Amino acid sequence: MVIFMKKWIALFFFCWCMIGCMHVPTMINFEGKDRKELENFVSDYHLEIEVEEVYSEKQVGTILEQYPKSGKIRKNEKIKIVVSKGIDYEGLKINELGDIPIMMYHGIWDMQNNDTDDKNGNVDHYGYQRTSEAFRKDLEFFYKEGYRMIRLSDFVHGKIDVELGKSPIILTFDDGKHNISVSKNEQGELIVDSHSAVGILEEFKKKYPDFKVTATFFLNSSLFESEYNEEIIKWLIEHGYDIGNHSADHVDFTKVNSEEASKQIGKMYSILDAIIPQKYVPIVALPFGSPYSKEHINFSHILNSSYNGKNYHTDATLRVGWEANPSPFSKDFDATFLKRIRAYDNSGTDFDIEMNFKILSKTKFISDGNPDMITVPEDLKSNVGETTLKLNTY
Ligand SMILES: [Zn+2]
Repeated sequence: MVIFMKKWIALFFFCWCMIGCMHVPTMINFEGKDRKELENFVSDYHLEIEVEEVYSEKQVGTILEQYPKSGKIRKNEKIKIVVSKGIDYEGLKINELGDIPIMMYHGIWDMQNNDTDDKNGNVDHYGYQRTSEAFRKDLEFFYKEGYRMIRLSDFVHGKIDVELGKSPIILTFDDGKHNISVSKNEQGELIVDSHSAVGILEEFKKKYPDFKVTATFFLNSSLFESEYNEEIIKWLIEHGYDIGNHSADHVDFTKVNSEEASKQIGKMYSILDAIIPQKYVPIVALPFGSPYSKEHINFSHILNSSYNGKNYHTDATLRVGWEANPSPFSKDFDATFLKRIRAYDNSGTDFDIEMNFKILSKTKFISDGNPDMITVPEDLKSNVGETTLKLNTY
């Protein structure tokens, strides 16, 4: 009888364990997966889920954290999860219709600010020529203010790949002279002077990899006025920089006829084509900003014409502007007549860097981090121009 009883008790405990085990699952880690997967998993076991929703770059509903992540779950135990509710567009003030600064530099001189007669690191009165000390400070300032560099040619084609919450900035250099100085080592390789504009850019490329350092250099037929002209141009292309057209002889387009205008642009393209075939950008930085108006008879010849029997096409022109340019996603965007900011310091007046970036703090482009989507506040939606990209409003 006792043995019989023991058998029944043993069987009872065996069954109880079996049923118990069926209701006590081993937890699976669902971090990185959609919350629905976890909800399906626990629905059979009468487990409760406690959910905390937070803003994140992960898709809405993605499980960011889960407790516990593994082990046997007791009946009625609570599973705690932290779930993404998407990006805080409003809090981050995401606006991809905001303005984008295209900085216009000329020469960078290996000098300290105290070495110049003019103030604030300007080598000449108008600040076209700047000291290396001032240029380094500019770059630090752009980085700290949350700007990240993009290529001018990408901007022209509406390709903006900047991380969430950051703003794009574009660097341009005109005239070639004082943009780079080089020497050669015993192996015959180019060594870039670390105090020249390109040397300083390379220094920042290493210092802040997420700065995505790049720039476009606009040349005349004298190129960089160096005995190593062609090697420098090839070096720049290989190192992520771009080369554009600044007319063959730095001509004033209000003072020449249309035939000469076509020659000035076509000849410069053919010089670049001989050195870096297909690898220069079909963009013209207008010398002196001339001819100042798109209505001028020479303007169409800058965009499309021919020289020596060869047709050319220009995607974009750069003015000697004074302020940031509209977003490429804006109805107001016109790639053929882009505005630039003169990169100089005039104590916060006359549209210098300080003045422009003060304005930009309220008007700048702030990225949603997704190059395939345009995110704008709902009330600005009607200002978006024609686009094939997905529109996202909040
Ligand atoms: Zn120039």
